[in-house]
Amino acid sequence: MTIDKTILAELKAALLKEKEELESNLGKIARPIDKAEGDYETSFEDIGTDKDDNATEVDQYTQNLSVENTLEKKLQVILEALEKMEKGTYGFCENCQQEIPLDRLRANPSAKTCIKC
Ligand SMILES: [Zn+2]
Repeated sequence: MTIDKTILAELKAALLKEKEELESNLGKIARPIDKAEGDYETSFEDIGTDKDDNATEVDQYTQNLSVENTLEKKLQVILEALEKMEKGTYGFCENCQQEIPLDRLRANPSAKTCIKC
């Protein structure tokens, strides 16, 4: 890969920033099981014991669960990109193995595929 070191550092900083934001949002609704793997478990908040409280708890949990899944997936894609940077395999399309154009990486540093794919 021929990504310039300065640009790579720029992309890495963008990924780390995104990672931080996701972790902070996840922290509000879930607790980390394995932070390095981006694995989180949705928290179940105990509001009360009567029927309405229980219904609210389940509603909230269901809602949080879907948000948590979305955030967790995004976080894992970012962790994967960071891992690829470490290994030096960052910037290649997972589908056709071609280099992903820099413009695309700049717009989306965690892109896994090229525009064609
Ligand atoms: Zn491709």
